[in-house]
Amino acid sequence: PATSMEELVSLCKRRGFIFQGSEIYGGLQGFYDYGPLGVELKNNIKAAWWRSNVYERDDMEGLDASIIMHRQVLRHSGHEATFSDPMVDNKKTNKRYRLDHLVKDQKADVVAKVAQGMGVDADNFPALIAALNANPVQASEALRAAGVRDPFSGEVGEWTEPKPFNMMFKTTIGPVADDDSYGYLRPETAQGIFTNFKNVVDSTSRRLPFGIAQIGKAFRNEITPRNFIFRVRELEQMEIEFFCTPGTDEEWHEHWLEKRLSWWEAQGVPRSKIEILDVPKEDLAHYSKRTYDLMYDYPTLGHEEIEGIANRSDYDLGSHTKAQGELGLVAKVEENLDSVAKLTIPHPETNKPVVPFVIEPSAGVDRAMLAVLSEAFTKETLENGNERIVLKLKPHLAPIKVAVIPLARNKPELVELARTIKSDLQRLGLGRILLEDSGNIGKAYRRHDEVGTPYCVTVDFDTVGKGEDPSLTDTVTVRDRDTLQQERVKIADLSAFLQEKLR
Ligand code: ATP
Repeated sequence: PATSMEELVSLCKRRGFIFQGSEIYGGLQGFYDYGPLGVELKNNIKAAWWRSNVYERDDMEGLDASIIMHRQVLRHSGHEATFSDPMVDNKKTNKRYRLDHLVKDQKADVVAKVAQGMGVDADNFPALIAALNANPVQASEALRAAGVRDPFSGEVGEWTEPKPFNMMFKTTIGPVADDDSYGYLRPETAQGIFTNFKNVVDSTSRRLPFGIAQIGKAFRNEITPRNFIFRVRELEQMEIEFFCTPGTDEEWHEHWLEKRLSWWEAQGVPRSKIEILDVPKEDLAHYSKRTYDLMYDYPTLGHEEIEGIANRSDYDLGSHTKAQGELGLVAKVEENLDSVAKLTIPHPETNKPVVPFVIEPSAGVDRAMLAVLSEAFTKETLENGNERIVLKLKPHLAPIKVAVIPLARNKPELVELARTIKSDLQRLGLGRILLEDSGNIGKAYRRHDEVGTPYCVTVDFDTVGKGEDPSLTDTVTVRDRDTLQQERVKIADLSAFLQEKLR
């Protein structure tokens, strides 16, 4: 695995996985563009998730809801009121920081002093942050007394009181920019699922339990975007809302925890690198009955959230439904006089209308990509003493499945045959097959090791009957990325051979 974030960032840029957004104008913080190989890897991760969670189950439907949403949706979901992080400004540098990030970035002795100022145990970071958020006046005094430094200037800052900062992007809808014509870019894909609950039930005749899965962009105006694609302002999520009968929710929660861990394992992210955080009661989001955060051990960052699996009780459908009073809701919800739909489904035993409970596994595509890349990243010393970087990606995730390489680029006979082989392999539907006619076989191998191409197929003079060994006519060399073994395979057998290997 990778040992530092830098080596990943450097590989991603060098080989065309990930670029800084708007780079030629100086870049835009918190936005990244996925390059020629990045888009393939990303698509493969999303396809693997969809296959496992939609196609391989019998209790799931898919959805692709719109990104811009009615402001009532984000009001009744609770996001207008609570989707905020506390921030502080440094009056000296005019820099703004997310409070928890600022404190986390301080040296241990400074954190200890802040904790002392708040009367909290320094080892309990979540409790410290909760205390800072809850007592703004005491917090700014504690930051001052501890001599908290500005990570930008390195000097002791002059800190304002922490204030909540709502992270939703607002946008004007239609030609007139008045106070009423705005909507929000969704901060999570989940709300599109809740608002379509009735549509999906009515159009598919689903009964409990069942889920709705969605992959799509979400937008969060993070105060301090950082750590490459770990914390960005435009992100992509893979989310499931799994609807079940109240009382069966805890069992389903455990089911999804298990399912999701084994999915990560199948993507090359082993359980041993993921810590399960049973989020303490006082840190739970407003909608949550219980949440497991999967904390992957990122290079340089350490354990950070890659996926959250929340029991959202009946909070969401309960918040978006009309006639809340009649439904015996368990969650505490705000009154809703705007919704026109009753979001219930027949109870499987009594047939009476019930608002189901929801289990939500929510994973970030960008954070998945970082973890997958990090696990695949390998530095090896070869027998001849040379070092190589190789991405040992699972074949189903590899951006390029096979590179077909003519040994010499100026021999039309070799290039034409390589082109034919490429196009035959492409028809198998395995993913991207690349014709690699850069002319330098050594460089081509190095490049394909670094981008994780599982197999390189080389067309040489023997292939076309012009080498030393006539028995090799109509065969090609297949090189295995991981073992570096090369074997001669008949062109006629190549499709079956690779299909078997890449299954
Ligand atoms: P964090 O505590 O790191 O800010 P969160 O608890 O706000 O994350 P959730 O709201 O649970 O995150 O979102 C679900 C998933 O979406 C996360 O597990 C993560 O993979 C992804 N995600 C959330 N915010 C970002 C972001 N700014 N950049 C990239 N991925 C994100």
